[in-house]
Amino acid sequence: MILPKNNRLTEVEVAELTVIVAEFGCRIQPIVGDVRTIYAIVGDERHELMISRLEGLAFVDRVDTIQSPHKLMDIKSDLARHRVKVGGVTLGDELLVMAGLCTIDPKNPNYFYETAHAVKEAGAHALRGGVWKPRTNPYAFQGDNRSLDILMEGSRRTGLPVDTEVMDEEQLRLALGAGVQILQIGARNALNYSLLRQVGKAIAGRETAVLLKRGMHLGTLSEFISAAEYIVNFGNPNVILCPRGTQPGLDGYRNHPDESITPLLKERTWAPVVVDPSHSVGKATYVPACALAAVAYGADGLCIEAHISPSHGLGDDPKQAITPKVLAELITRAKALHALRRSPKPSAPVS
Ligand code: PEP
Ligand code: MN
Repeated sequence: MILPKNNRLTEVEVAELTVIVAEFGCRIQPIVGDVRTIYAIVGDERHELMISRLEGLAFVDRVDTIQSPHKLMDIKSDLARHRVKVGGVTLGDELLVMAGLCTIDPKNPNYFYETAHAVKEAGAHALRGGVWKPRTNPYAFQGDNRSLDILMEGSRRTGLPVDTEVMDEEQLRLALGAGVQILQIGARNALNYSLLRQVGKAIAGRETAVLLKRGMHLGTLSEFISAAEYIVNFGNPNVILCPRGTQPGLDGYRNHPDESITPLLKERTWAPVVVDPSHSVGKATYVPACALAAVAYGADGLCIEAHISPSHGLGDDPKQAITPKVLAELITRAKALHALRRSPKPSAPVS
């Protein structure tokens, strides 16, 4: 469907549209509204080249394809009124902060418990803690089922919901059975459609939320949003999009930080955006700047790796976890920036 810049098009302009769409086997059907006329494309309107040629016309505002690959996630979907809630926070109203370990150490559970209390004290609303880890090195620590008990014990002790990554059906079953409130789909599985479908089916009818990371490669936004559609189309719309940096990394950073896609996502989808600055930059000292940039770009929340003693951590923690002290300062600044972003803009000075 073509939305013109003005209320209706001239005959010459309609003829121009007609010539373009005819090349792709389509025709134009004007639909006359009270105020505005829109121009439906009758036929298969998904041809990318046709859409970009139409969008290139000066008199066209935008082209909405009816067969959007993510019609539920689309900003124009009826679901756009849905609000995702995590840890007492309604995303969009208040800045959500999730923080905790990259990887729970089953031999030293106190690192998780102490970090859990410390990040709560710092102002976090939810805990993160990796039970099962996707490791590049097959000989590196892969996680441990025992860490699931530690994760849930941390949730009980602090009263905060927990987020952990699941990579297969068995982990999904165990995590849901234990009561994990937020399931994380990691960057390596972000396009594992069979897992996405399993997660969608498993959480239907529950309050469980899903933190869906962006795939590691520099994929399109449509691909990212469509991955969320795989989950939501089973009936649970509590999905959160998580940019976490893409490959190739920016020289000096672990990945190419991509918090700047936040406003672009928000133009296309109603899903809340929670940015992961830790994996974006891969080094603790760069995390606060990336986190604040994310908030400035419009993020609804942050998912941050934090550890009471990073050098004693596993997985990514020695390199990229920030301490609860740094987290507390960051949360204060991030909340202030979030409030500033939401406050009415001052009117232009009268000269
Ligand atoms: C993680 O959150 O620790 C993790 C492995 O994330 P990602 O999938 O973004 O690499
Ligand atoms: Mn990690």
